Amino acid sequence: MRIQVRECSGVQVSSIKYHVLRFTHHASIPHNDHATYQSVFRTAPLMIDINSVGIIGAGTMGSALAQKFAQEGLNVVLVDMEDSFLNRGLESIKKTVKEGVDRGIFTDDKAVEILERIIPTTSLQKVAECQLIIEAVFEDRRVKEDLFRQISSIVPADSILATNTSSFSVTELSTSVSNPERFLGLHFFYHAAKNRLVEVVKGDSTSEYVFKQALWFMQRCGKDPIISRDSYGFVVNRFFVPWLNEAVRIYEEGLATKEEIDAVCCGSFGVGMGPFALMNATGVLIAYHAQKTLEDGFGPFYQPANTLREKAESNQIWAIDELNSPADESLVKSIADRMLGVVFLVCGQILDEGVTSATELNRGARIGLRWRLGPVDLMLKIGEKRVQTLVRDVCDKWKFPMPNSLTIGAWTLEFVTSEKFNKTAVLTITRPEDLNALNEAVFHQLGERFADAEQDEDIETIVITGLGKAFVAGADIKFFVTNLENGNFKAIKQFTELGQKVLSTIDGSSKKVVAVINGLALGGGLELALAADVIIATENAVFAFPETGIGIYPGLGGTVRTPQRIGKGLAKYLIYTGAFVNAEKAIEFGLVDGVMSFQDVMEMFYGGKSIPELQAIALSPKWQAIEAYFDTNSLKDILAEKVKRQECLSGEDVAKIQSAIMRKAPIALRVVEELIDGNGRVESELEKLETVFATEDALIGLKSVGGKSPRFKGC
Ligand code: NAD
Repeated sequence: MRIQVRECSGVQVSSIKYHVLRFTHHASIPHNDHATYQSVFRTAPLMIDINSVGIIGAGTMGSALAQKFAQEGLNVVLVDMEDSFLNRGLESIKKTVKEGVDRGIFTDDKAVEILERIIPTTSLQKVAECQLIIEAVFEDRRVKEDLFRQISSIVPADSILATNTSSFSVTELSTSVSNPERFLGLHFFYHAAKNRLVEVVKGDSTSEYVFKQALWFMQRCGKDPIISRDSYGFVVNRFFVPWLNEAVRIYEEGLATKEEIDAVCCGSFGVGMGPFALMNATGVLIAYHAQKTLEDGFGPFYQPANTLREKAESNQIWAIDELNSPADESLVKSIADRMLGVVFLVCGQILDEGVTSATELNRGARIGLRWRLGPVDLMLKIGEKRVQTLVRDVCDKWKFPMPNSLTIGAWTLEFVTSEKFNKTAVLTITRPEDLNALNEAVFHQLGERFADAEQDEDIETIVITGLGKAFVAGADIKFFVTNLENGNFKAIKQFTELGQKVLSTIDGSSKKVVAVINGLALGGGLELALAADVIIATENAVFAFPETGIGIYPGLGGTVRTPQRIGKGLAKYLIYTGAFVNAEKAIEFGLVDGVMSFQDVMEMFYGGKSIPELQAIALSPKWQAIEAYFDTNSLKDILAEKVKRQECLSGEDVAKIQSAIMRKAPIALRVVEELIDGNGRVESELEKLETVFATEDALIGLKSVGGKSPRFKGC
């Protein structure tokens, strides 16, 4: 039996032990004991252990939020005024959960668990036990204020309270809350159980501590938070609702039909539904109210179009037919220019006012609205000069000054952030809208941030992690496809060289490098992790090398660093089969060094908690058998089904392995075998690049991503 023992015992991420005790003070602080409350927050734990959430309002948003938190394993108290409203909410949850079961997202057991976790009630008192309470009642300021006064008199003084308001000021609402330091805005997007975006809004009174807790908790629950200042419309509605309104104005002016406007917008913004279809789906009235709030906050440019008001007041939706792209190209252009001009103007104002950053603004549109390109991507694509021309037209019409942030310098997208905590630098890949996929910009920024941390004498440990659902879900496939179609191998080679260089720098670092795998680590993501000294996975981490299944091979050191970590046999198993391995399995054969909860990871980053002691790993007989199978049998024999049956591997296991490998691209597989059995130099991967990328299979495989499984030709 082989025993794997890895070096790196008990790396101390920071010398300062922060508060690692759990938040246990709930029952003890009466709601009016302000002094104790203050002292608790001064000595508060690093992370509040939120295990129960109160949701007030079981309507569209409240019911979806209840489902989301129950899905994440939390207990939910769902409050509404009448049983009939609760039942309506529960029916809607059941319907969505059933859809999830039908689509294979949830098992039957999970569906039962989700529903059991939700406690419906008409008694507000029941939220007293919840650590976080989110209000999702009617968009009526008086109703919300009354509710917060009531909640304040019920819950302990340190429960975190949040509003899901779309239009009111968080700071103004906070005046109805006792201890307003614990109050903030959490603005979710429809459908709140599925859409990952949430705007986290800090009011003037919100404490930094509470704000951080909310941000972390949202991440822990699988949301992609963006930070917004407390400003009307926050980030996304501020430009999205005027986009809807401008569509109505264009229609009112008789410039184009609703169907033509929708068709042009689908093309220009890469969306599945144009503004009119969207208003019909999400509510004409909601669009009107949101625009009215913006008008109250920011003046006449934001005034709702007359027809929008009429439709809203008469509670009607837009009558629309099939999309109909205008035959006249100049009409297409003038509609697109008007719509883009409005979005760019508002985004310029958002950046000028510091409502959010360019990166988060862009992310808001990509994730919350599912635009193919965010406003900043669009601005970068069409260029500063043209953006300014389009915005000037709007500014002239509405007598606005040109925003200052309409220059390329204001549109920097930050894909890798760096934070320093005592002796640790935490580098986070922040491109959740593309599952943190590696592209040139990510590599450049990662290289730069890493070099800074490397040079910083105070830093002993460098942590690399990802924001959102993925650590890194691979490299940008679109980049490969575009360059292959243009026959531009040079670009692919340069990109691979750049990636190899960054990963080799990480591998060769004099500091302790820790990869914290917060979700998917696929292909290039796994190769990035393998460049670290220590790999820690959170419970939802998933690892795989899908490359040979899409016609290519790991070219960022995967054929070298995988065998270094787990041996040649298991490296071949992973790369030939493309098997998806969860955290629990990954630790069994030493691909990762430890598994931690999200909470423990945060305490490790920010609180100086030690990385777990590494344990000796004894490979189970099954893993030993898999390893021996790949150590003893050549790829040729495996593909020719000439292999001997391995002890501990059933005929069925062997057949499964063989059938997985047979579905992969043969040339890529052969190159992988050659490289793993080769000289162990990462640079050798570069020498094979053209051999593989020039094959028909590479293009077939790369183009198949997101669609049907490819059928390779072997050439
Ligand atoms: P909704 O009308 O569907 O549901 C509101 C629910 O709150 C109703 O079931 C109502 O009975 C209940 N309610 C009202 N007063 C209550 C009280 N005092 N105590 C308990 N329950 C009470 O509304 P919605 O669309 O879910 O919106 C809720 C909030 O979320 C609003 O502030 C809205 O602006 C915001 N929001 C909505 C969306 C959206 O797409 N619908 C998106 C983001 C934010």
